[in-house]
Amino acid sequence: MARPYQDIPLWREVTEEQWNDWRWQMRNRISTTNQLQQVIHVSEKDAHAIDRCLSLLRMAISPYYATLIDPDDSDDPIRKQAVPTLAETTSSPGESEDPLHEEVDSPTPGLTHRYPDRVLFLVTDQCSMYCRHCTRRRFAGQTDGTRSDEEIARAIEYIQQTPAVRDVILSGGDPLTLSDDRLAGILSRLRAIPHVEIIRVGTRLPVTLPQRITPALASMLAQFHPIYVNVHFNHPKELTPEAKRACDLLSREGIPLGNQSVLLRGVNDCVVTMRELVRGLLRIRVRPYYVYSCDPSFGLSHFRTSIGKGIEIIESLRGHVSGLGVPVFVVDAPGGGGKIPVGPEYLISRSDRVVVLRNYEGFISGVTEPEDYRDPCAHGCTRCTRDPESVGVMKMLQGQRPTIESEESYRRGHQASLREPGPLSGMSSPPSKPHPRPTRASRP
Ligand code: SF4
Repeated sequence: MARPYQDIPLWREVTEEQWNDWRWQMRNRISTTNQLQQVIHVSEKDAHAIDRCLSLLRMAISPYYATLIDPDDSDDPIRKQAVPTLAETTSSPGESEDPLHEEVDSPTPGLTHRYPDRVLFLVTDQCSMYCRHCTRRRFAGQTDGTRSDEEIARAIEYIQQTPAVRDVILSGGDPLTLSDDRLAGILSRLRAIPHVEIIRVGTRLPVTLPQRITPALASMLAQFHPIYVNVHFNHPKELTPEAKRACDLLSREGIPLGNQSVLLRGVNDCVVTMRELVRGLLRIRVRPYYVYSCDPSFGLSHFRTSIGKGIEIIESLRGHVSGLGVPVFVVDAPGGGGKIPVGPEYLISRSDRVVVLRNYEGFISGVTEPEDYRDPCAHGCTRCTRDPESVGVMKMLQGQRPTIESEESYRRGHQASLREPGPLSGMSSPPSKPHPRPTRASRP
């Protein structure tokens, strides 16, 4: 429950019109320790820690989001997401500035092109609140402003010249901090590119500054359908009437809403909290999409949980809420490996005839496989084996390669040395001879 802002001395004179104006909220974000102390209780020790942190990283908290903080609870889950701590100033083993290699995979500033058919387009580094757990903390808040027109133009030009790109994800910073006109300008240029099929917008504003979602913004976005919006709720306390109204405005314009949470120590690493969150999201027509394991960006170790905690949370959701409300738990693999889903195991064992599965309660069932099933892939169809998008393990299932071997394996290096004078690098291609796809009939 939000505190009435009129009870907070700093905003006693603020009119309702000002409070509900997103530009007023942006201009009046809390960015100093002194302002923060006028809104919540901050001990001397915490004040020093915040000042130290602010010498390295920016703080900004929208007045709206600040009213969600319990002023007297230093463990409040909203406070933990908004208020800097000393822990952010220390780095731990395995952390880096850009753990997801977004900049390594960047053909032009602001664009990451890792998967063949989609690009991540960072149009601004400004946010209404700088989340303390932000993966992109190397970038978010750096200038507290938008990207230059020239950089935006170069990124759009790259997309224009890359026909494989079907899906553009606008992110940042927060793309909805751009004015309606600027955003419409970018969206219309993207929409004019024939091969761009869908546009996605990643935003935290329905959570941290719901006043930004105006009827005018929602109907402007709808001009560029198919458009999807992914939001970022982490805790049930964020599901306020204001946030509900913001999501409703977008839904009514036919914009599908998904939620991407980050699993955070001390914020939502609790099965009961997460169950409340996903049920609350479904009530406001937001589909839980991903729960991310917290990335190892510099200064985030105090937020990280075990991967096992994420699996436990998914275990606690499956069967207890509708499948619509069960997100996928993903680990964004450091080094640019992309999102890897991990979750509980439901397949216990299998034979050629029976698959043994367990349900969420531990009930174990044997499912008999159909005897007359003829896998079309094993009987002449070559559609999938000719599919250029088949790679890695999929190729193994199609019988196109028998192994996947590390380039660093001893065997590979040893074999190369036996084939002197060939260079080592020439050994990196996989075996070229097709491996017949196994079929039931071919088994002994
Ligand atoms: S809104 Fe997103 S980009 Fe901005 S600080 Fe939060 S997590 Fe980072």
